[in-house]
Amino acid sequence: MNQVTRPQVIIRHCDAYDPKRIETIIREGLEELDLRPYGRTLVKPNVVASGKHFPHAYTRPEFMEGVVNALNSRAENLEELAIGERCGITVPTRFSFKNADYYPMAKRVGAKLYHFEEETQVEIPLYHEERLRDSFFTPEPIAKADFFVNCPKFKAHPWTTVTFSLKSYIGIQDDRHRLIDHDHKLDEKVADLQYIIQPQFIAIDAITAGEGRMLTPIPFEMNLIIMGTNQVAFDSVCCHIIGLDPLSVPHIRMSHERGFGPVGLDAIDISGDVTLEEAQERSKDFRVGLIRVEEYFEGTNIKAYAGPPPSDSIDYCWGGCPGAMEEAIEIMRLYDTKTDEKMPKTHIVFGNYEGEIDAKPGEKVVFIGDCTKYKGDINGNQVEIKSLYVDRSKKSPHSAQSDDIFVKMIAMEKNWMGMKKQDVLRIAGCPVSVAEQVLLLIKLGKLKNPYFDPGDAITFTNCYFKTRTQNMISRLRGKAYQEAGPTHRGDARPELNLPPDGADTSLEA
Ligand code: SF4
Repeated sequence: MNQVTRPQVIIRHCDAYDPKRIETIIREGLEELDLRPYGRTLVKPNVVASGKHFPHAYTRPEFMEGVVNALNSRAENLEELAIGERCGITVPTRFSFKNADYYPMAKRVGAKLYHFEEETQVEIPLYHEERLRDSFFTPEPIAKADFFVNCPKFKAHPWTTVTFSLKSYIGIQDDRHRLIDHDHKLDEKVADLQYIIQPQFIAIDAITAGEGRMLTPIPFEMNLIIMGTNQVAFDSVCCHIIGLDPLSVPHIRMSHERGFGPVGLDAIDISGDVTLEEAQERSKDFRVGLIRVEEYFEGTNIKAYAGPPPSDSIDYCWGGCPGAMEEAIEIMRLYDTKTDEKMPKTHIVFGNYEGEIDAKPGEKVVFIGDCTKYKGDINGNQVEIKSLYVDRSKKSPHSAQSDDIFVKMIAMEKNWMGMKKQDVLRIAGCPVSVAEQVLLLIKLGKLKNPYFDPGDAITFTNCYFKTRTQNMISRLRGKAYQEAGPTHRGDARPELNLPPDGADTSLEA
């Protein structure tokens, strides 16, 4: 990679969600980095989940207000100033934006809002040697952005240790494409996503950071705004702030090894009104999220068992079903405070598990995921669970499907009718998403359904139907777009994703 200048990371003090104060800090950062937004400027926050139940999971609207106003004040030849995201847990992004107060904020700052799952998805070819696939899809506003700004939230993550700038890219795909390779190859997927686009500017909301988890993190007052231009250097400094070796985080290591940026502090210029040492002092004892599922459920009525996923070298599926179960139980605890009391003794099994399953009569044993496999005695009966795993080479982004939440609810209702009297159950999928595991826990524990929370039900349903309508329109447009052939972004760093000499660059639509 031709790095003309050393990457710079700016660490600033900010102890309040005051849009004016944030705007000043961001504008000073843009000036120091000599950046001027232009053309189609797109800002991507992390709004994986929001609202009263997820207060520390997302980039706050006050932060975005400061960022967008600062970008506007530095802009030249702006064609469009927009904010775009695909949120998580199968809810419409409209619902997440609404709960995060993004609509009034966007109106105040004059920014357009893109709900990425409603946009045409365009194909991006990949050429690098280590790629998981030959191409993948991203929403059109990402593919067309001239000046891309990444505004993540500083958080821990149960699948990838942390979610800073690189990992936040999972939100630049809609659900159909996001779930492909969202398994033990998740870190590789995150590294591959870097070839779609690189940001010209990064600003992370680390005023109140989130530790321990990703959807339901514990607030951690860090009082920082960190800015930069190079994703790897930026994430490396964030790791150093919390005392983590950046090379121990696989997606940071892979992105570094592929030439996206340096991890060594001797190759990065750090400036700002907070020194690295001061930032480290503030962040002492910050807990990351990497805990195996067996340990996570210790002391509860759920006993978890995890064997390896289909891989010669990996003994645990960090990017898939086990971590999704950890997030699912935390969501249930938020919506139903009696979750742990209500849950009956249950055994949950992931991967190719070969040990004992210590189930007593009447206790359910649930095998989760296509790759789960077991042969042995359960409660005096011989049980054989066969793997349903389909190799990733047989899955194509062109035919990827993903059910919306109401379809998932209907499927769970239907399956539960057949399963509720059985002691041994199987939930298929790769991955079995957080939303599906939430629906499973509701059935197992007779818990309150968060999707029918009385305070949210009308808004949720309205957002759902608006998204459905927009999706139909976009897919019609998208078909025509794909027939025109794949997109070559031709972005600011095309050397990262150029076809090798003599390569066949044709792709089937
Ligand atoms: S089925 Fe689940 S645990 Fe197995 S490889 Fe897929 S995501 Fe991982």
